[in-house]
Amino acid sequence: MNWITKIIKAGEKIKTALHKRASKEDIANSDWTSCCKGPILKKDLEKNLWVCPDCIKHHRIKPKQRFDILFGKNNYEIFKTPIPNDDPLKWTDSKSYKDRLKSARKKTGLDCGMMVVCGNINNIKITAVASDFDFLGASMAAAEGEAFLYGVQYAIENKTPFLCISAGGGMRMMESLISLSQMTRTTLAINELKKNNLPYLVCITDPTAGGITASYAMLGDIHIAEPGALIAFAGARVIQGTVKEELPEGFQKSEYLEKTGFVDIIVQRKDLAEKIGALLSILLKKNSVISTEENETTENTQSLSKVAS
Ligand SMILES: [Zn+2]
Repeated sequence: MNWITKIIKAGEKIKTALHKRASKEDIANSDWTSCCKGPILKKDLEKNLWVCPDCIKHHRIKPKQRFDILFGKNNYEIFKTPIPNDDPLKWTDSKSYKDRLKSARKKTGLDCGMMVVCGNINNIKITAVASDFDFLGASMAAAEGEAFLYGVQYAIENKTPFLCISAGGGMRMMESLISLSQMTRTTLAINELKKNNLPYLVCITDPTAGGITASYAMLGDIHIAEPGALIAFAGARVIQGTVKEELPEGFQKSEYLEKTGFVDIIVQRKDLAEKIGALLSILLKKNSVISTEENETTENTQSLSKVAS
């Protein structure tokens, strides 16, 4: 190798190093993330409940982070929910479904994409579910359906309200019809909650789409949404291509859905626990501040519209 080829090879190495893009793993393990003003330290974002202090963007959070904020750090019971057989259809695309499940479990530490817990807000015991977007896009399949049903069953047996923090891209392709049937199963389960006069609240978070929007995320007694969340059934481009019209500004965002009546209130993450406590105290006709037997019989005069304002 002469001196010219040595220089060319060294130059190529530098070029490759400069052009090498950070992998998804590098980004996930970094101390930094990005928002409107460029890089932001994850620990600074965490102090602000993963909400950007400048643009109020509500960054996606994991079920445990969500429940820590709602109920207090580790102040809730996590349930182990049934896991049906993996990969019932022996699905393989560019990678086998079994391998995808394996890496999703490793990445999230969860057995399925949904976590079911029981915690307290203002002395009201609440059963809650939340999805992890890092688990195959929080898509819904048989195991997630089982988790949801387990939560509803627990709520009915223990007479607690049921709270769903919705997120996810829809039903999971790799379980096809088995996955789609979860839309019916969750709907029937919610009907059971209603027959038992138990409140069902939904907090819609970014992104909630597809069959999730078309089933359990839109069946709540009250629909709360985080600011700026994408809430959709079909994608905007598909709709625009079908209706052949320019879509309104902010189409499929929480604020637009509040105006059109699909969302009742938009609540910032920092106010979520307080608002859920107030709403449940009205729905259960309890005073959320002092819980005594006397108050249970006292009619709560606060109207829902007051809470919503
Ligand atoms: Zn920002």
